[in-house]
Amino acid sequence: MKLILVGPPGAGKGTQGERLAGALGVPRIATGDILRAAVETKSPLGSSAKPFLDRGELVPDEVVVDLVRDRLARSDCAKGFILDGFPRTVNQARALDSMLASTVHGGIDRCLLLRLDDETVVRRLSGRRVCSSCHTPYHVDTGLGDEGRCTKCGSELVQRSDDREETIRARLAVYATQTEPLTEHYRQLGLLETVEADGPVDQVFGELMKRIRQPAQKTR
Ligand code: ADP
Ligand code: AMP
Repeated sequence: MKLILVGPPGAGKGTQGERLAGALGVPRIATGDILRAAVETKSPLGSSAKPFLDRGELVPDEVVVDLVRDRLARSDCAKGFILDGFPRTVNQARALDSMLASTVHGGIDRCLLLRLDDETVVRRLSGRRVCSSCHTPYHVDTGLGDEGRCTKCGSELVQRSDDREETIRARLAVYATQTEPLTEHYRQLGLLETVEADGPVDQVFGELMKRIRQPAQKTR
């Protein structure tokens, strides 16, 4: 199963992506996590990406496309994958199409759009804390793991530097202008499924699984 998760920052892509990965037995590939890890290790990729992450802007397409191409070539992607946060521009979507066309993977099975209004996004992201090691998201309103440590790996929970209101607003603007248009690309292919993301986590997950199990209305 090859899935794409699209939605504004804070819609729940990471939360749902982890659950879907567990249920479907395929890896979740989150370009944001990969880029933040590169920033932490101060690798050349991290140094070039950091200014974009700090401003809430998109890292240039060619950088992210190369990163995803390398990641998809790894053996754990043979049975499928869940892309979280990629593609984020129409150019990236086209690059992904040609990347998959030239491999044994075949095309994408479904593009799942998580829809959430801006004010809920700001509320969710202002309260988000993430595991500094495995990146699992938590929220101040629903509990910060095991006394501020990740329940999965025990590492410290931290606030992402781009989860401050000013940067959240910038990221929302980037989403509206650069990312939302790519949903049309998948709608035209008959692969787009839209799910309202403001319900409880279990409900959103159930809705996503329902859409994944339904046959896609592929147009080509
Ligand atoms: P994204 O990966 O799309 O940026 P996350 O999965 O990190 O979003 O979720 C953003 C924040 O909202 C996190 O703090 C997460 O715990 C919380 N969250 C995720 N899904 C829900 C939900 N259905 N209801 C309430 N809070 C949620
Ligand atoms: P995320 O963790 O998905 O919220 O992404 C955090 C940041 O990483 C974004 O604000 C961008 O700066 C960068 N980023 C993640 N994925 C992409 C992508 N597909 N294209 C460009 N930039 C990205």
